[in-house]
Amino acid sequence: MDILDLTAVELGERIRKRELSALEALEAVYGACRARDRNWNAYAAFEIDPARTAAQRAQALLDSGEAVSPLAGVPVGIKDNLNVRNCLTTCASKILRGYRAPFDATAVRKLKDAGAVPAGTLNMDEFAMGSTSETSCYGPVRNPWDRERVPGGSSGGAAAAVAARECVCALGSDTGGSVRQPASYCGVTGFKPSYGRVSRYGLIAYGSSLDQIGPLARDVRDCAALLDIIAGPDPMDATSIPFPDTRFLDALNGDIHGLRVGVPEECFGDGVEQDVQTGVEAFLDELKRVGAELVPLRLPFLRYAVPVYYILATAEASSNLARFDGVKYGFRAERYTTIEDLYTRTRSEGFGKEVQRRILLGTFVLSSGYYDAYYNKALKMKQMIMDGFAEAFRRCDVIALPVSPTTAPALGSSLSDPLKMYLSDIFTVPVNLAGLPGLSVPCGFDRRGLPIGAQLLGASGADATVLNAGYAYQLATDWHKRRPEGLEVSGNV
Ligand code: GLN
Repeated sequence: MDILDLTAVELGERIRKRELSALEALEAVYGACRARDRNWNAYAAFEIDPARTAAQRAQALLDSGEAVSPLAGVPVGIKDNLNVRNCLTTCASKILRGYRAPFDATAVRKLKDAGAVPAGTLNMDEFAMGSTSETSCYGPVRNPWDRERVPGGSSGGAAAAVAARECVCALGSDTGGSVRQPASYCGVTGFKPSYGRVSRYGLIAYGSSLDQIGPLARDVRDCAALLDIIAGPDPMDATSIPFPDTRFLDALNGDIHGLRVGVPEECFGDGVEQDVQTGVEAFLDELKRVGAELVPLRLPFLRYAVPVYYILATAEASSNLARFDGVKYGFRAERYTTIEDLYTRTRSEGFGKEVQRRILLGTFVLSSGYYDAYYNKALKMKQMIMDGFAEAFRRCDVIALPVSPTTAPALGSSLSDPLKMYLSDIFTVPVNLAGLPGLSVPCGFDRRGLPIGAQLLGASGADATVLNAGYAYQLATDWHKRRPEGLEVSGNV
């Protein structure tokens, strides 16, 4: 068996038993990337020297008996918006070209301390803005199930690399679905933790009140093992929350007898592709079969989530991205006259179209004449959405719904109509607005053979409950074990 077919937990076990070394595991990932990544373009960069250094350090920790994490020695792909010390960290943007992180993000530092090995940076939508991973300065990522389709976004490189067996597991970021939606389009498992569960320190900010780092992996167990490592309060992130400590991997018992699963009527019907609907209904049937109780719900506030999200996310982005001015980091326009001209030219040449569109939109909703009409109103609606979810969680323990109304769209079909692309985020963005944990698990295929994803949500802090429900489902089904055929194809890209 190819070691890249193992789950992260299985690979960690073999490394602990000395069946292979941390360095051998890394070389396998690096080899797969070099041999096959031209098919998918999932990696932004793979700098082997720092990864080898990390693997050697991990092996030393293992040998000394200090690394006891289940993922000690396991290579972990890192989305290109997480700072990894001495490595290129560019948010797939020309404006950060050549930028090397001077420090580790807290999540990355915790990985290293646990003996896991940051291995390669994964391609993404520029600054995590998008749903397709097509806006990268490194070119679009392709879906391993169908090269003519997008892998989803913005953590499309992470999802594609896990699906294509080019990486074992990965860290992505989720501001409005960027872990869950690409996981769903690529047939892998992705988890967005409760807001505050994982420190955002060293995650290059998009929408700070919405961003969370989350794992993408083969299954729920791997996600739980990664979360065990990266979760926890951090003095470097004032928004991190000291949730009562939970050992997520240990908490998985697969028993969901009597678990109340809310089923929102708004999420099944018009606008949802028939095959997606059928797939998610079968998912519900399976949960019921293994002991859950289905509770019909109404969540009428969901229809406001997309406009509210795109006001708040762009407002925060316009402020967060102000720091990229050609003075401190990365790219600087070659020709300029005044300092103002330097800023303008650098930002016009350095940011792509989608990022510029969002900066403009965000600046507009924050401008003095429109602040109350848009930004303040959106904040009030965000509170309404939070209250609506809190109310719903009095009637159920988790909520089940599709991840996306469709399976992966064709390459090139989304960016021409950004509004349509934004609307397709309907099932993922409410979760970030309310700060909830959300899990995406593979639950079948459509008639074109593209993966379908089902989503499970919990109340803030109920990450373990959500993961356990997904685990129970994966114990009973094998959708998460399917792999795309013909991974070795190497056509023209
Ligand atoms: N598709 C959403 C957006 O474009 C979500 C992105 C994300 O979660 N980073 O903003």
